[in-house]
Amino acid sequence: MQRLTNKVVLVSGAGSGIGKASAVRIAAEGGSVFCIDLNAEAVEATAGEIAANGGEATARVCDVSDEASVQKTVQACVERYSRLDGLVNMAGILRFDDTQELQTAHWQKVIDVNLTGTMFLCRSVLPHLVETQGSIVNAASTAALSGLPSGLAYSASKGGVLAMTRSIAVEYAKRGVRANCICPGDINTGMTDSISFPETMDFDLMPRIMSLTGAKAPEVVAGVIVMLVSEDGVHITGEDIRVDGGTLS
Ligand code: NAP
Repeated sequence: MQRLTNKVVLVSGAGSGIGKASAVRIAAEGGSVFCIDLNAEAVEATAGEIAANGGEATARVCDVSDEASVQKTVQACVERYSRLDGLVNMAGILRFDDTQELQTAHWQKVIDVNLTGTMFLCRSVLPHLVETQGSIVNAASTAALSGLPSGLAYSASKGGVLAMTRSIAVEYAKRGVRANCICPGDINTGMTDSISFPETMDFDLMPRIMSLTGAKAPEVVAGVIVMLVSEDGVHITGEDIRVDGGTLS
């Protein structure tokens, strides 16, 4: 399928996992991808992989929690491609802490990246998406829909992303911009490979974040994201779609 021919999509977190898989899939469907990530080597590798397969991509380092860096990045994307049709906001971090021991700095870091960073990007792209009748896909999580033991900051950040996305969807509906969330669960990525639990973690509580069908690759989420960004998602806005193998079913 070539659902994104002549479209330009900015993907955050494009160096790894779901962001990388989304960037690769967008390019495979004919879109130009502006790939951003904190990790320079990783984001260059994603853009290189896309180019090697005949696609169009640009790599740029950007810390999504840095307001000025986000503004310059969106400006650079529009200067490079003269338009912007989509934002796929996948940059994120996860940490587990016993709630009573949670340090304020750790709470703040997770909120800064996952919630405020998502907002910085949405706010910066919206004027461009109004011009193109574009679409946003933000990364929430099953943690936004159900309790995540020892995941206080992460679940709060993802609940915020979900609520923020619905607000954007309503505020911009008449201006032709759609905004949706995906809620992945049990996807094999760098994030899930590097989880570190507090010593007090009660692992009896963990099955509620494991899918019924086994962990899946990030490409299964990328397919849903591309549907939402493309015209196939034209009547979907303010929605959150679980891609979690039935975890919360
Ligand atoms: P991932 O493989 O760790 O990819 C996230 C990418 O974001 C990494 O390349 C990371 O770089 C980058 N990043 C981190 N902080 C950043 C910042 N401040 N600015 C720019 N880039 C930054 O994670 P993933 O599993 O694909 O997750 C993608 C999104 O889905 C996240 O928002 C995550 O919360 C959400 N999600 C994932 C799952 C799952 O099962 N995997 C479930 C629910 C929700 P570094 O590697 O250098 O940190």
